[in-house]
Amino acid sequence: MTWETIRKDATPGVTPNLADYERTRADFTWSRARAALAGLPGGSGLNMAYEAVDRHAGADRGGKVALRCIGRDDTVSTVTYAELARRTARFANVLRSLGVGRGDVVFTLLGRCPELYTAVLGTLKNASVLCPLFSAFGPDPVEQRLRLGDARVLVTTASLYRRKVADRRPSLPGLAHVLIVGPGSGELPGTLSFDALTAAAPEQFTIPPTSPEDMALLHFTSGTTGAPKGAIHVHEAVVAHHATAAYALDLHSEDVYWCTADPGWVTGMSYGIIAPLVHGVTLVVDEGDYDARRWYRILGEQRVSVWYTAPTALRMLMRTTPRQERHDLPVTYGLSALRFVASVGEPLNPEAVVWGQEVLGLPVHDNWWQTETGCIMVANFAACEIRPGSMGRPLPGVEAAVLERGEDGRALITDGKVTVLEKPGVEGELALRPGWPSMFRGYLNDKERYEAAFADGWYLTGDLARRDEDGWFWFVGRADDVIKSAGHLVGPFEVESALMEHPAVAEAGVIGRPDPVAGNIVKAFVSLRPGTEPTPAMKRELLAFARRRLGPAVAPREIAFDQNLPRTRSGKVMRRLLRARELGLPTGDLSTLEGPA
Ligand code: ATP
Ligand code: MG
Repeated sequence: MTWETIRKDATPGVTPNLADYERTRADFTWSRARAALAGLPGGSGLNMAYEAVDRHAGADRGGKVALRCIGRDDTVSTVTYAELARRTARFANVLRSLGVGRGDVVFTLLGRCPELYTAVLGTLKNASVLCPLFSAFGPDPVEQRLRLGDARVLVTTASLYRRKVADRRPSLPGLAHVLIVGPGSGELPGTLSFDALTAAAPEQFTIPPTSPEDMALLHFTSGTTGAPKGAIHVHEAVVAHHATAAYALDLHSEDVYWCTADPGWVTGMSYGIIAPLVHGVTLVVDEGDYDARRWYRILGEQRVSVWYTAPTALRMLMRTTPRQERHDLPVTYGLSALRFVASVGEPLNPEAVVWGQEVLGLPVHDNWWQTETGCIMVANFAACEIRPGSMGRPLPGVEAAVLERGEDGRALITDGKVTVLEKPGVEGELALRPGWPSMFRGYLNDKERYEAAFADGWYLTGDLARRDEDGWFWFVGRADDVIKSAGHLVGPFEVESALMEHPAVAEAGVIGRPDPVAGNIVKAFVSLRPGTEPTPAMKRELLAFARRRLGPAVAPREIAFDQNLPRTRSGKVMRRLLRARELGLPTGDLSTLEGPA
């Protein structure tokens, strides 16, 4: 099977086909999407947590399982919508009793434990602002973000607090309360017990009037291209979370849904907590770490029907599943409930789409968005033809365009004007017409940077893309990563994807290395699959393989083997770090780098 042949037929009445897509787009308005939500009782506004929890609990769906939490030891515990409503009300009361109110920022530094959901949704109920951190962050990134985000409250565990925050507490005078989940607060001065406080708090809480424009979430970007930026999101974003999860993830209330993204990253919040609960699904929450067999087991045992993951996770599955096991996988693990798989965060190599079809029996639906956009913008829809390697088509309510670019790869702005490239196939900066509800409202303390992200009525994404003649968008690269080589502009993604088609290659990261003749030459860092030796012969083979696929102008001139490509905690290859190491330049902000620097 070749990847060009992958298509999925429309399921009548369930998911739109292409004609339906055009019709849906034509009919769609954000105000209608807004009307699909309940709003706070008595017309007192729109609150994310109300839509996610209380609305279901109050509408005879309280007995439905909201969270199915799988502990590290595989024990499963469940939380119903009614119970989640009570727990989050208790936590909102705790905040209120501590004098924490509207607009105050509550940070979480937690793994995927049930208390995380209580803390996030309870904070939103109280009209306070939630900022999630990766629990794997070291002390510096934690302190940096607590300070930048003006943290008032931190919810964490004793061990994380001891290792990452306790020493820094004196330099964070604004951090008034630290709440410790689980045991240990007694031995830690200056902390309170999350469990004791919530147990003692009343389970009735009236959500205060919440304006759709009230700040709800603070999300730091992944830091792939530089220091992370704090993106501000408001309660109205829930309208977009709801609508886009229906279109791009095909979520229905009957679904059992699993999102593997860490809650410290925007995906783990928007589509790991808010959107699925607003849809009233049962959410699978896995506290454990990545492990291929465990993951297949969870998909099977929990009867997961919709799965949202990331290219890095899929590539790991591809790398660690022995070829002889692949054909039996759906049967061995009982994956028959699985009906939709989606991916986000990085370009999804066509290879991974094919792998999904062959091994899971389903193609993987790539979609594209950013921390700033707050929701999925461009997607391969459930029933549309998937074009592997493409990020898909703009969602209903989203207007996307490719803008003519200048020398630096960014959109060319002349007298405040930009040029929309109408002709298909031309590369330029991907831009979006602002106006969807989850659009970020600013970068924290950085008005200038926010304003610089707009021109001529467009939001400039910093990514390069092209549109084909049928309207599918293709990711080319980040403007910062594009390589100018001998008069050609080379997108690293294209080169990485070609290398990954070689059976020995697990992953690749491609950069430009300055060269006196060509300006830059294309250099690839390649990690090999287990069992393959990094020999000079393998290097030659890969160089020749890439040249055959890509032609001499685009193919890498150099290859280095690297079994540990640097990546962000959200799973993105940090090309800027590969480049800095190669050129002996300062490495810049590495707060989001996974593993030891
Ligand atoms: P920073 O802005 O701090 O450098 P970041 O851009 O990686 O970090 P995120 O907001 O987490 O932070 O990631 C958004 C970016 O991820 C997009 O701009 C794009 O470059 C990349 N991305 C996300 N989804 C896709 C996709 N499906 N295909 C290609 N690239 C994607
Ligand atoms: Mg970015």
